[in-house]
Amino acid sequence: MEEAKRRFESHSVIDKDWFREVNLDWAGFSLNLQIEEVLYEGKSQYQDILVFKSKSFGNVLVLNGIIQCTERDEFTYQEMITHLPMTLHPNPQKVLVIGGGDGGVVREALKYESVNKVVLCEIDQLVLDVCRKHLPDMSRGLDDPRVTIQIGDGVDYVRDHPGEFDIIITDAPDPEGVAEALFKKNYYRELKGALKKDGIASCQGLTTFTDMPYIKGMVEQCKDVFPRVGYATGNTPTYTHGIMGYLLASSIPDIDFTKPVRRFSDDDLKRMNLKYYNSDIHAASFVLPNYARDVLKGL
Ligand code: SAM
Repeated sequence: MEEAKRRFESHSVIDKDWFREVNLDWAGFSLNLQIEEVLYEGKSQYQDILVFKSKSFGNVLVLNGIIQCTERDEFTYQEMITHLPMTLHPNPQKVLVIGGGDGGVVREALKYESVNKVVLCEIDQLVLDVCRKHLPDMSRGLDDPRVTIQIGDGVDYVRDHPGEFDIIITDAPDPEGVAEALFKKNYYRELKGALKKDGIASCQGLTTFTDMPYIKGMVEQCKDVFPRVGYATGNTPTYTHGIMGYLLASSIPDIDFTKPVRRFSDDDLKRMNLKYYNSDIHAASFVLPNYARDVLKGL
């Protein structure tokens, strides 16, 4: 690491042995992780890709200068974005994951015996290759015989597969570049089309503390398309401000997103190795602090 202060597009830097995440959308704020070793640095057609071994959070995947997941706290996000929709469905069989090239969401979806098909549609083959090598615990489900990997744009994939899926999980980076389309009304329209009538979708929903204006627009656009929309949050230490939001959507007119139809016993939690998600967290995650609830009220 002789070359101090290498810059990424987001203005994040490697400064001696520290990775400093700087995003101009969150001016004056940064998250820092101490680096033990840089494991991979490269550039694909779509993004800058960095993986480093950190001193305190295991291996870390960074895309375009923004932390996507760390080995130590990835379970918080992967479990919430997956088990919120999966436990709302009585018999999830076909699951589509858009983005998600680290494999963590696929790993979680495969924990259900009812699941017989998981399609992962990731735009960037290089993310898959790098994660298979450096994030083995996240990517271990990718070789399961129930999994099919498609390299391509998620918007095209949902448009071309009407009425196919019980569950669709959009595990996207923040809305920039090719990921921006995954937060827009046109995508929600295609997403609705790719779900079966009783299907349920969950999407990466940004961070409430700073992103409420964007989240409001995102929820409004989703509500223009789906009759039922919900918004939950959870804690992930290495996402901005430690908060991650989850957007839920369905065409089931009377669905109550706060009430999973499948509740997990302590034995289930152990068998499925769940370290964050449980049925009480599920219900509680839809309770928002006033600063967020007031913005989304009436939407
Ligand atoms: N969990 C992370 C987060 O919340 O920031 C995101 C995980 S990351 C593996 C998401 C993946 O989505 C990236 O690998 C990226 O290449 C992929 N992606 C971005 N835009 C996409 C698109 N339009 N279609 C399919 N995959 C896309």
